[in-house]
Amino acid sequence: MDDKKYFVHESSYVDTPCEIGEGTKIWHFSHVMKNAKIGKNCNIGQNVVISPDVVLGQNVKIQNNVSVYTGVICEDDVFLGPSMVFTNVVNPRSHVIRRDQYQQTLVKKGASIGANAVILCGNDIGRFSFIGAGAVITKDVPDYALVVGNPGRIVGWMCYCGIRLDFQDSSDTKCTTCGKEYTMINDKQITEKTHNKVSSVPLLDLKAQYATIRRQIEPVLKDVVESQYFILGPKVKELEGKIAAYSQCSHAIGVSSGTDALLIALMAIDLKPGDEVITTPFSFFATAGVIARLNAKPVFVDIQEDTYNLDPSKIESAISDKTKAIIPVHLFGQMAEMDPIMEIANKHKLFVIEDAAQAIGSEDEKGLRAGSVGHMGCFSFFPSKNLGGFGDAGMVVTNDEGLANKLIKLRVHGSEPKYYHQIVGGNFRIDALQAAILSIKLDYLDQWTESRQKNAREYIEKFKENGLEKDLGLPGLKKGYRHIYNQFVLRSSKRDDLIKHLRDHNIGCEIYYPITVSDQECFAYLNYKKGDFPVSEKAAEEVLAIPIYPELTQAQKSYIVETITGFYDK
Ligand SMILES: *Cc1c(COP(=O)(O)O)cnc(C)c1O
Repeated sequence: MDDKKYFVHESSYVDTPCEIGEGTKIWHFSHVMKNAKIGKNCNIGQNVVISPDVVLGQNVKIQNNVSVYTGVICEDDVFLGPSMVFTNVVNPRSHVIRRDQYQQTLVKKGASIGANAVILCGNDIGRFSFIGAGAVITKDVPDYALVVGNPGRIVGWMCYCGIRLDFQDSSDTKCTTCGKEYTMINDKQITEKTHNKVSSVPLLDLKAQYATIRRQIEPVLKDVVESQYFILGPKVKELEGKIAAYSQCSHAIGVSSGTDALLIALMAIDLKPGDEVITTPFSFFATAGVIARLNAKPVFVDIQEDTYNLDPSKIESAISDKTKAIIPVHLFGQMAEMDPIMEIANKHKLFVIEDAAQAIGSEDEKGLRAGSVGHMGCFSFFPSKNLGGFGDAGMVVTNDEGLANKLIKLRVHGSEPKYYHQIVGGNFRIDALQAAILSIKLDYLDQWTESRQKNAREYIEKFKENGLEKDLGLPGLKKGYRHIYNQFVLRSSKRDDLIKHLRDHNIGCEIYYPITVSDQECFAYLNYKKGDFPVSEKAAEEVLAIPIYPELTQAQKSYIVETITGFYDK
């Protein structure tokens, strides 16, 4: 310890070793325990205990009668009001030692905690948040939030200077006292407007999303690892129940990927070599790939120009006596027109399997959800999908109990009971870790979807305002549908130059998809030729996806709009 660049009243104890910064004052009857680290210019009141290993930043002010327990970290400029309480064990029992189960409580820069408030351990207290006197905090507090009551609820927002912000009906506001500006992202998040120039935006920022859910995810990962129960099991059952309800289906069967969801759905309808399946040539490869893997024949039908989805008016002429099923794809997050597709399917006794890999939660004008309309619906939880796992996973949903039972068997090599096989299936199981993660993420999905929709609305509005409606084919929105925007796709006749311009400005973009599936080399044997699917072929030459992810900031969106507008203004 350095000598006396700080003050400790003679009635207080400071154990060794510990670090105390210059200018810090420790008043009467307090106890700083070993390995505590206290920054510069802190003020520690009367009757305060700082437990071993606690870390306090600079300029932390602690009022009288506060115990800062092991596991607590206070960043710079934190204010702890008189007699406020931290805890560090979730489930204390006098007779059980839980010293190795202390949970961390992080109080971020500038937060103020009122007199007598209680902070349950394991929660983050956001930057410049404000916890009212007597509040009981049971979950993470967002930056700038004003939280009161028991359990603590967000009732407003506070400027970093400590003045309450008034958003009225706008998403932007300015502090009436210091003039700092803020933007509301949703009802649980605001940010300070930065006038620093944004200079890059990725196409997708999964790290930004993880930062918002880490606290919920981490303990669940630990639970699964502790249980050592990795394949199927209760976490999978829980997720299946939630996804079935979310997609208006009575059954959901978790599988190993979106591709396997499609494959197992085709196996469930006994697709045989030589059978034909009608689908779109403008999709991710897997849609047609699974048909070919079962030695059946993909038969392509062109798409609608504005929605990129299967054109129902072209389906009937592609039906033959070998046709067994139709796979419409709800591309980019908007449902294909299911009414005419189902009508044709019923007339010809065909199965309909919805490729809803990009469309979980999307709805048609009647409010029917993707996956619930056809005989089966297939979801992908690939990390870049709207509901993404930490690896590969997928799900089949259905309202047909017979198909559900078959899918459950096929998922485990076709056996029932174990080791007795009536049919040949495969290993198509989803693992418990993915299910546990997805179950938590599903609770956020609607909030994320709303942010994606808001981003899309703003893009459309701004591009129109800037007179680019003709230059950029904006997404064709079907009236009354719920588009969930897995991708926001523009089209441009100068796409390659536009891509170069965006790359030069560090904006992520991607072509979904640069070639039609019918033109893929591996499908040369199907003998399709250029010109067979003119709408899809033109789309493949013109489409371009730009960032739409929920965590995009206002400044990032403005940067993207300005950069694209700049390209056309040249
Ligand atoms: C992602 C995707 C798939 C495949 O899902 P995976 O989980 O990656 O196997 C299938 N179809 C479409 C339309 C997709 O976007």
